[in-house]
Amino acid sequence: MSDAMDLLRSVKDQTDETEFYTPLPDGYTLGSTRYVAVFGTVISGLGKGIFSSSLAKLLKDKGLRVSPIKLEGYLNFDSGTLNPFRHGEVFVLDDGMESDMDLGTYERMLDQDLTGANFATSGQIFQAVLSKERAGGYLGRDVQMIPHVTGEVKLRLRTLAVKTRADVVFVEVGGTVGDIENAFYIEALRELSYEEGPGKVAFMALTYVLSPPALGEQKSKAAQLGIRRLMEYGIHPHVIAVRAEKPVTTKVRQKLSVYTNVPVGRVFSMHDLPSIYLLPELMREEGLDSEVVELLGLGGRVNSAHEFKAAGAWARFTSTIGSERHEVRIGITGKYTALRDSYASILKALEHAGVAHDTRVHVEWIDTTDVTDDNVAAGLAGVDAIIVPGGFGTRGTAGKIACIRHARANRLPYLGICLGFQMAVIEFARNVCSLAGAASTEMDPDCEHPVISILPEQKQIEGLGGNMRLGGQDVDLTEGSLAAELYGTTKIRQRFRHRYEVDPRYIETLQAGGMIFSGRHPVHPIMQVLELPRDIHPYFIGGQFHPELTSRPLRPAPMFHGLVRAALERAGARA
Ligand code: GLN
Repeated sequence: MSDAMDLLRSVKDQTDETEFYTPLPDGYTLGSTRYVAVFGTVISGLGKGIFSSSLAKLLKDKGLRVSPIKLEGYLNFDSGTLNPFRHGEVFVLDDGMESDMDLGTYERMLDQDLTGANFATSGQIFQAVLSKERAGGYLGRDVQMIPHVTGEVKLRLRTLAVKTRADVVFVEVGGTVGDIENAFYIEALRELSYEEGPGKVAFMALTYVLSPPALGEQKSKAAQLGIRRLMEYGIHPHVIAVRAEKPVTTKVRQKLSVYTNVPVGRVFSMHDLPSIYLLPELMREEGLDSEVVELLGLGGRVNSAHEFKAAGAWARFTSTIGSERHEVRIGITGKYTALRDSYASILKALEHAGVAHDTRVHVEWIDTTDVTDDNVAAGLAGVDAIIVPGGFGTRGTAGKIACIRHARANRLPYLGICLGFQMAVIEFARNVCSLAGAASTEMDPDCEHPVISILPEQKQIEGLGGNMRLGGQDVDLTEGSLAAELYGTTKIRQRFRHRYEVDPRYIETLQAGGMIFSGRHPVHPIMQVLELPRDIHPYFIGGQFHPELTSRPLRPAPMFHGLVRAALERAGARA
């Protein structure tokens, strides 16, 4: 250990003579933070984020401060421009960072708000390196992948450690071992482990065991080769987590142990579970959390009383999953109905709200491309509530408006999210306020009544130019409204990602027709929550924000909580 320390001390004042490049953030002490690094082998989509966040949760339950970071291989600066159909939803953090959906998994599992510091892409890393180069920051050196780019990666990790005062930083490396894109991340972690010293960095390899139906048994060769590949990078895993459909057999775990020198007790079966929220308990039963505490020498920092309490609260939550006494069917309209990942946070928010009501929520996907006023009643006959979620572009909007009209006129519980909020305004303007030409300038720039539009003067006030309004914003709720009742307060903070909003010129007309804007920007005339009077409709509400992004297992988002309650009442009335 002292070798590494000496070596670093000797490069503290960087010169053009040295081969080392390890900038340390102010206030960082080598060897004081622990790191858990998670890699995936064999296939992508193993659930590295689920594994990493579950383990982080178990350590947090023990009273340790944890901070996760996802290292993305792609060159985009953030996830803002990514198509959710290919990459899953864009998860917006409170500080406005448009991040990967895995950050949502971390926030939910840890019940912890994250920031841009918890999310890095290759694009961000290279941009930082190139800016330093332009500013003459490398003292005449040729700038190289090693040590400069890897040095930048380590700096990001250590900066996060300082900023969050984490006991343990969880580093999830995106992609699969062997990709070109993430090779420098893996290299950086190898260097980190040397510099921080033994017992400070624990490596976790996720892998996948195949079960070809024709053979009827689990086969581990691909897993063996995948982990070999990791070892070729100079990283020897401390723990192997094996993904499989069924529990991994002892024989396969032994085989993996033989091929990798990882004790069989640390080869963990991460088989499919009915809900990801059951994984932390499975890990705890297998003693994985204690193994990691021991590997990192953290025993002295464990708070057993804290753990007992946290484990109890979690067990009360998970004990409901799979044995709910009630059920409801909730329809979700949307363009990406084929891909559940595009609506990951909405599905999770429904799960949280469902558990709180001891209710299993079945989701019905409604492709609105062919929905019209004539066939909508049949299409929605089986659902107890509907959600029109966020989205961009024109496709399916006529069908969405037909669904909203049906929900409004037939007292079908409705939740509109962002675009779903805007569509509810348009439907109401057209069918209640007799503004036949009402639309959004996003879909119809020349419409007669642009009830939803871009307002340049407001955008200037908000200082966002032509860009999206992103991240956490304060919302004032009207006392006595459905919204205020749901949230139990009149001051809330919600996350936004939109460009268009209600045109203030139409507010009066909409209100005269009976629409209530019960949530507003504290200063500007930006409408953020709409609802219908409760004597007219049991549950009709919309948010210009995304309530799903801040729903947590033990603290479901109030708008979803209310929706499931209303759906239950409707299902009960029908039965
Ligand atoms: N397309 C709409 C806007 O930009 C809604 C965005 C969303 O649903 N996230 O305002």
